[in-house]
Amino acid sequence: MAGNEKKRTRTYQRREIPRDQHNVSRSVISEPAKKVLSRLNNAGYEAYLVGGSVRDILLGGKPKDFDIATNATPEQVHDQFRNSRLIGRRFRIVHVVFGREVIEVTTFRGNAADAGDDGVDDDRRTSEHGLLLRDNVYGNQEEDALRRDFTINALYYCIRDFTVIDFAGGMEDLLNRQLRLIGDPDTRYREDPVRMLRAIRFAAKLGFDIEPETEAPIRALAPLLTHIPPARLFDEVLKLFSAGHGEATYDLLTHYNLLGPLFPETAWAIQAGEPDELIRQALRNTDARIAQGKSVTPYFLFAAMLWPALQAEWHRRQDNGDPVQPALHSAIGKVIGEQVQATSIPKRFSGPMKEIWELQMRLPRRQGKRAFATMSHPRFRAAYDFLLIREATGEIEPGLGQWWTEFQNTDERGQERMLSELSSDAPKKRRRRKPVKRPAP
Ligand code: ATP
Ligand code: MG
Repeated sequence: MAGNEKKRTRTYQRREIPRDQHNVSRSVISEPAKKVLSRLNNAGYEAYLVGGSVRDILLGGKPKDFDIATNATPEQVHDQFRNSRLIGRRFRIVHVVFGREVIEVTTFRGNAADAGDDGVDDDRRTSEHGLLLRDNVYGNQEEDALRRDFTINALYYCIRDFTVIDFAGGMEDLLNRQLRLIGDPDTRYREDPVRMLRAIRFAAKLGFDIEPETEAPIRALAPLLTHIPPARLFDEVLKLFSAGHGEATYDLLTHYNLLGPLFPETAWAIQAGEPDELIRQALRNTDARIAQGKSVTPYFLFAAMLWPALQAEWHRRQDNGDPVQPALHSAIGKVIGEQVQATSIPKRFSGPMKEIWELQMRLPRRQGKRAFATMSHPRFRAAYDFLLIREATGEIEPGLGQWWTEFQNTDERGQERMLSELSSDAPKKRRRRKPVKRPAP
């Protein structure tokens, strides 16, 4: 392919945008962020607001946190603030803590080309796949800008003269609503495959297009995500689905072959014909909750994301002759066991996730004291929400969810009546579903 000639290499040039040509005003910057900026400036260092906060303010939004870049080393920053701590290994950074607000301060990173050869350097390491394992070579502001991922994330705001400084054409991309990686996309994804997920996250969140050269390598490089530690991928999954655009994010992940590296069993199951309607409905609910300022729980999210995998595994075991209940238990073990090789799931989330699933079997059994026992289970509310989603998607016949809604809203006499009406009803027949065949690996 003659693609290399066609590639339009951008020339990067420093550009200063004066205050009257942008909308970043001090009033939208948090007090703690301003405090850190001025303290570092007064101590003789350079310090700028950078990254998502500048980007989001320029887009007229409200930043969710503030990142600062400086030429002070992490130790020098730490010396300036008693309320700070040094963290990180892959990237050493400083957190300055003001109550619930944490300001992340990073030292300017150096330029890849100047940072030595092949990763033998202890401060900058790359693996055989081109993966950046450690990146603690410091540099100047321009080098720092070009080490960042997307051009729109490499804009700096200077609180001394109120200018925005643009090294990579980020302003132009912001205006054209485009996500563009800085440098050669293939190399940048190989250095850090998580940048592929970040592209999806920002595209969904900002409604931006992924510029063609930035988009082109993603499908082919998606499998590189399997080299990323499961704990980091768990964090990224939460960021992907808790930004309020979960369904759009899910569509993009699917489109770019990125669901497989994150949820291998789910991707398999869906490919084999398992419906993903429950995932979509759960993400739509999550998006609506976030829009109302409510929180989302990771265990609910993971319970939904892994549901197609669990369904496939559960039914496979039943088709092999296992009774329903043991089939469910062993399927749960299998699905979680596989998943934690892709993304970790901390125990405090995998426990409740299992309970949501197990309660799906208990919710239909309401006779005698069972309904009360189920309702007092700490995960009842989540399991009931999950049941409503299963009904809404047509996975199970409607009725049970309505019953539980009424049962929760009525008084004791009403509950007694509902339970007695129940025992006079004939038990409902379960709908048989077609077994889903897994394709040969
Ligand atoms: P948000 O905080 O809204 O999710 P953000 O752009 O601030 O978005 P962060 O993860 O907070 O994202 O990172 C702050 C900045 O650090 C980014 O804007 C980018 O400039 C840089 N950055 C973060 N992760 C990477 C990465 N994997 N590769 C290169 N640069 C990165
Ligand atoms: Mg940020």
